Amino acid sequence: MQGDAVSLNEKLGNFCRARGADLFGIADLVPVRDFILSQGPAMLGQFPRAVSMGIRLNDGIVDSHSPNEPRRHSLYWHHVYDVVTQSLDFLANDVTRWLIDRGFQAFPVPGSTPYDFDKLMGIFSHKLAAHLAGLGWIGKSCLLLTEPFGPRIRFVSVLTDAPLEPGSPLDRPCGKCRVCIDACPVKAFTGAEFNPAEGREVRFEVQKCSEYRREHPCGLCVSTCPKGKNPRDKPPGPGL
Ligand code: SF4
Ligand code: SF4
Repeated sequence: MQGDAVSLNEKLGNFCRARGADLFGIADLVPVRDFILSQGPAMLGQFPRAVSMGIRLNDGIVDSHSPNEPRRHSLYWHHVYDVVTQSLDFLANDVTRWLIDRGFQAFPVPGSTPYDFDKLMGIFSHKLAAHLAGLGWIGKSCLLLTEPFGPRIRFVSVLTDAPLEPGSPLDRPCGKCRVCIDACPVKAFTGAEFNPAEGREVRFEVQKCSEYRREHPCGLCVSTCPKGKNPRDKPPGPGL
């Protein structure tokens, strides 16, 4: 790693932590450029790096949420999509300005990216960036599981040409665990382990989840996963 890259990574990591990031890492996007172009607009394909940042969810809210209450009354939904996602967008905006002020190009991808209702996916995968940055691995739930917080965290990404040193992807199987598969009220998971060579449909019938969540503030695959229970006992995550 070059000295300049080290100091840039460290300075940016410190800035992200001061602005509220619980996890921070750098993804190398070059090997996945074709996938990025297949998912979103061409301008996203020009950036070789993504700054991946996560903000953890509140345990009390995650543990007490019920998918049976109306979505408009759900504290869980408000916390995840209004509070944490909005905080991530402000964080990404600050990081974008930080990078541009230092002469680099930077583009903040919104925390809840504009959605393609045909493909049932966003224009850019924050989960992919976090995985490539070494912040976690993909579970049978298709969620990114992190060592300190399990899936109780949301991510945002800033795409950039800054010469940041990337992390290395992590892969850890769920093994015999089936907790999320059994907990899902619409049986959206097939039980298959993550395999980057296979499409999402091998693991996840996203249409089932999407239809259920139009009415129900479900996050049972987040709250029931044994990874991330009692996260306050866990050490700080990588990059911080
Ligand atoms: S959010 Fe609920 S419905 Fe959707 S996959 Fe997770 S457990 Fe199943
Ligand atoms: S609940 Fe178990 S199977 Fe599902 S993602 Fe978490 S560890 Fe993997």
